[in-house]
Amino acid sequence: MSMFDSGQDQIGSDAATPAYGHVAGAGVDVTHRAILYLEDISVSFDGFKALDRLTLTIDSGELRCIIGPNGAGKTTMMDVITGRTRPDAGTAFFGQTIDLTQLTEAQIAQAGIGRKFQKPTVFEQHTVFENLELAMKTDKRARHSLVAQLGPVERDKIAATLDLVRLSAAAGRLAGTLSHGQKQWLEIGMLLMQEPRLLLLDEPVAGMTDEETERTVELLNELNGKHSIVVVEHDMEFVTRIANKVTVLHEGSVLAEGPMNVVQQDSRVIEVYLGR
Ligand code: ADP
Ligand code: MG
Repeated sequence: MSMFDSGQDQIGSDAATPAYGHVAGAGVDVTHRAILYLEDISVSFDGFKALDRLTLTIDSGELRCIIGPNGAGKTTMMDVITGRTRPDAGTAFFGQTIDLTQLTEAQIAQAGIGRKFQKPTVFEQHTVFENLELAMKTDKRARHSLVAQLGPVERDKIAATLDLVRLSAAAGRLAGTLSHGQKQWLEIGMLLMQEPRLLLLDEPVAGMTDEETERTVELLNELNGKHSIVVVEHDMEFVTRIANKVTVLHEGSVLAEGPMNVVQQDSRVIEVYLGR
């Protein structure tokens, strides 16, 4: 029996945390609230510490923003969570039972951690609808997805996602013809089709127009509470609009953590941002 099988046995564990409502996906034991634990994670590149005993906990259903100046270690942190980079030291757990440091990138994705890279990677030659359909079919956990014909449940799911990511009117368009912002939303939609337990977004509004940024704020606020999401950004203004709780990274570890209005007043945070 693999680690995943034992994880799937705990599908009912969400019932223990009704206060968080329905959080997409299943199979991750969040009975102690937290969906992600990083403890004393260190990563060195040729002696340079990109992460230096980073300790961080994300609760199930939480929308957390991670901010910090360039080079703070934000992307390296995501690389560790998704198995792209192995930490030199420290522990990384997904829920109570899944040790991320023992899994491959593919296994981590399958366990329910979805990641959106900064550059959108949609299937340009396919329609928006087909992109969402394809995303659903690559979800190996869903047996029904192997059926060639889309059923009403799948159609409804795609329609709901199109609506959520504001692309209903563009459903029949080739993804290659979308604006940069629309591609970003489509990719978020594709990740949502796979019902990840934890969604990692790396600089989702980079390159967006002001209007697209505004709609992304609305989108993330709609997802808040329904999904566990970690958003990495260096745009403080954007973060102010969506965050409940903010973690500030600096030189590979946590400099400050708390509500944005408190963190913004922190003299060390001000120094790090202004002293660049
Ligand atoms: P952020 O995303 O917060 O801007 P990164 O995690 O990309 O920061 O980088 C943290 C530090 O680690 C930077 O100083 C960067 O130059 C260094 N770094 C990241 N990846 C590598 C790598 N593969 N090899 C060497 N140094 C790296
Ligand atoms: Mg980065």
